[in-house]
Amino acid sequence: MEQEPILNAHNKDEHRPSHTAEHILNGTVARLYGCGRAFSSHVERKKSKLDYHLAQPLTEEQIRDLEDRVNAVIAADVEVWTEYARKADMAGRFELNRLPDDASETVRIVHVGNYDECLCAGQHVERTGQIGRFRISSSRWQDGVQRLVFRLDETEGHD
Ligand SMILES: [Zn+2]
Repeated sequence: MEQEPILNAHNKDEHRPSHTAEHILNGTVARLYGCGRAFSSHVERKKSKLDYHLAQPLTEEQIRDLEDRVNAVIAADVEVWTEYARKADMAGRFELNRLPDDASETVRIVHVGNYDECLCAGQHVERTGQIGRFRISSSRWQDGVQRLVFRLDETEGHD
């Protein structure tokens, strides 16, 4: 499967709440299981799939724990903010080898409060409270690849 470029070729039309939830889940999985962020992803409004390199399948308890942690960040309604930096200054802080060769010398760092940071050119919600409730609806592990499928139960408000 093709890797999603982090900069320049990002899909600008993706669903902002789902994509922001992807950031939070990636940060959580990478921190807890040391496997890095998803190496493959397919994110859309209805459901999103993320694949991680994990030697062993996550247990049902670990998956519910991931859900709880992501929902806690959503409930905290933290700000999603961006900063720009020189690529050369970011070595060691991010996986720069995942950038396309023609990525610009200036990189865009997207922060979810102080919970997560990563390089991204995509579009995000302004605050995590806009994401809605996060739910891992299915998971599958095969040959060292853990797939997590998530959905958002969006709050349908009237302005
Ligand atoms: Zn992003």
